[in-house]
Order: sequence, then C-alpha cells, then structure tokens
Amino acid sequence: MRAQLKKPLRPAKPPKSPAECAQGQCLCGAVRLEIDVPARWAWHDHSPASRRAHGAAYATYVGSYRSRFRITEGADEITRFVDQGTGTARSFCARCGTPLAYERARAPTMVNIPRALFDTRTGREPRYHIAIDELRDWAYTGAPLAPLKGFPGVVWERPRRKKRPER
Ligand SMILES: [Zn+2]
Repeated sequence: MRAQLKKPLRPAKPPKSPAECAQGQCLCGAVRLEIDVPARWAWHDHSPASRRAHGAAYATYVGSYRSRFRITEGADEITRFVDQGTGTARSFCARCGTPLAYERARAPTMVNIPRALFDTRTGREPRYHIAIDELRDWAYTGAPLAPLKGFPGVVWERPRRKKRPER
C-alpha cells in the first residue's frame, strides 16, 4: 500500500483581524446596519406580536446595546410602528417591509435586531426562548424530513404515528 502524499502545507494566512462588527441589511438593500460583536444576547421570541410583525412562526433576535448599533445606510427609508400599549417600537424598511429593529421602553439601552438580517456571526447563539408556550403547532421544530416524490428539492414531514395520547 502506497502512502498517500500529504498535500503541501499552504502558506500561513495572515492573522485575521478580529471581526469587530456584523453587518446586516434588509431585503431590498436600501437599509444597512451593523452592530459591534459580540452581541449582548440572542433569543427566539414566540410572542404573538413578534410572530405577526415578522409574518413568521417566531422571530429570532440579537440584542445589542444601542451604543453598539448603527444604521450605516438608508436611515431615511426606515419607518416605525409604535405600540403605545406595550411600550414597544418596531422599525422596518418602508420599501420592502423587512423588520429591522425592535425596541422596548423597559430596556431603553438595548435594541433587538432580527438575526436573519446578518449573514455572518454575531458572537451570540440564540439559546433563549421567550413565550415558548406560544410555540405554534405548525412551527418546524426539527422533525425528520423525507424527499417528496415528484418534487425535486421538496422534503416533507411524514405524518406521525400517535404513540402517546395528545397532550
Ligand atoms: Zn428594504
């Protein structure tokens, strides 16, 4: 048996400068923002308000100190919805509707940004859940998936056999 030759070592890359911020943008690209990393924390928000505001099963946010958050482009394109009843404000892109920031009066030094706006690491994993009792029964929670015959690229969750009585 011949020993496999090891590939020559590649020259050492220059040391990466520590990623100091994470950049995000809305769908249309009009608004760009950034936060210093690491973010303060990251969390999944299952509350009905965030579910509706995002039009999604739940919202995942990274929380940043306001002082570490910057709108770098498109500030004029941002519109806000202020909910006086809950003391919250949600900013979104007026052109494409992408949610951009969620602020709460009771945490005035923080701003929460949808995790999905960032392509790169934010320095925090979303390990926390708020209002988990509101998790919808249609939300995907990682059940096994199988290819759907006749629809390339589509997978589906096979109906579950009921082993236990419904809760
Ligand atoms: Zn936009």
